[in-house]
Amino acid sequence: MRYISTRGASPAVGFVDAVLAGLAPDGGLYVPETWPAFTQGEIAAFAGRSYAHVATEVVARFVDGEIPHDVLSDMCEAAYATFTHPAVVPLTQIAPGGFIAELFHGPSLAFKDVAMQLLARLSDHVLALGNRTQTILCATSGDTGGAAVEAFRGRANTRIVAMFPDGRISEVQRRFMTTATEDNVRCVAVDGTFDDCQAILKTALSDEGLKQAVGLSAVNSINFARIVAQSVYYFTTAVALGAPYRPVAFSVPSGNFGDGFAGYVAKTMGLPISTILVATNANDILARAFQTGRYTRGSVQATQSPAMDIQSASNFERLYFEAVQRDGLETGRAFASFLEAGAIDIPPQALAHMRETFQGMMISEGETSRTILATFNETGGIIDPHTAVAVCAFQRMRNLAAPVIILSTASPAKFPEAVLDVIGETPVVPRKARGLAGKPERFDHLPADMAAIKAYVLAFAGK
Ligand SMILES: *Cc1c(COP(=O)(O)O)cnc(C)c1O
Repeated sequence: MRYISTRGASPAVGFVDAVLAGLAPDGGLYVPETWPAFTQGEIAAFAGRSYAHVATEVVARFVDGEIPHDVLSDMCEAAYATFTHPAVVPLTQIAPGGFIAELFHGPSLAFKDVAMQLLARLSDHVLALGNRTQTILCATSGDTGGAAVEAFRGRANTRIVAMFPDGRISEVQRRFMTTATEDNVRCVAVDGTFDDCQAILKTALSDEGLKQAVGLSAVNSINFARIVAQSVYYFTTAVALGAPYRPVAFSVPSGNFGDGFAGYVAKTMGLPISTILVATNANDILARAFQTGRYTRGSVQATQSPAMDIQSASNFERLYFEAVQRDGLETGRAFASFLEAGAIDIPPQALAHMRETFQGMMISEGETSRTILATFNETGGIIDPHTAVAVCAFQRMRNLAAPVIILSTASPAKFPEAVLDVIGETPVVPRKARGLAGKPERFDHLPADMAAIKAYVLAFAGK
């Protein structure tokens, strides 16, 4: 299978090259030239199989023979053996027709582990084969950095630089990155927002000189392998609730829209998903886009759910590309104008296509707190603020015939301050996170400036 850019001006590449590059040279995002599909029978056969088995089957459709099937299967087994729950992504019921999929049983207690544990093994394998090394530059709104550091630390062929917005992530989130002692890890507190970090990353990735010098790559959800790995739990959870014979809906707490787009991928592959509810916090660019047809950037506001404090949702470009019938030139034009003017008017047919699947909803800070409290009072369960945004959106959604699967993207232990404020109790910290508080931290401070980051990355790579 070949991968093409959403901006239509880069040569098609194979899976391995798409994964190693992250962003396409024309600034677009890679998508497969054609979408693979499962038959109803193939989806039905996922019932009762292990998570790693389903992951192997789904990912294999995109790898398309570039990695031997048994090697891929071993990678999936090893990746999901790092999760502490035997189901990997367990499903619990919280209301009639409402189920929570717990995506946070991996090493850094957030759903980013699901994709990152696999991505680290995929890239290790292909780097070793090609006798290559890479430098990952990572922009994190809090959880990607921790998951990436957990997945890549100590790996021989990879250096990693994790940039996070200084003071805008939780202490536990920061410590998952900054307490790593391995030589191949560097952390940078950037004086700016996540959007600043992501803009620097995108500029760095389109700097051919830097790319060549250090083997620059990205593990943000602009990397297509992440999307593929995240589409897996749409299949496992939907099948557990009766798919493919019964449609399901999802409620997804959204920031960069990687998770939301992974659901679109699963649907395109044949999973009967009736609706994907895109739940945002006050940074509601996505919710407004689906509601009004205008994708317009606001200013970033700090909320209780910092991993979603984003006003430029990278993966929206992938959806836009599909919605304009894969017109790369039109997509390139739209996102170039977004960069300049901060706005895109979504063409009416494209908006109609998006609305066949997506519905946007903004959840306020007050509603988020009330949802954490009500869930605790009614079920005894503690949910984190990101999950609460999706639970609240589920509760507001009316007249859905299908059961709704709410993606729970982080353990409450990752946001103890926010949870304590609301329910007056501190969530139990899983064993693997207990040591973090006592460990020394190691990170550097840099301005939100491309030249400064570039010099830092070059120095780290010894160039
Ligand atoms: C990253 C993240 C999100 C947002 O996911 P996107 O794929 O960027 O939309 C939501 N919740 C948590 C806890 C996250 O870490």
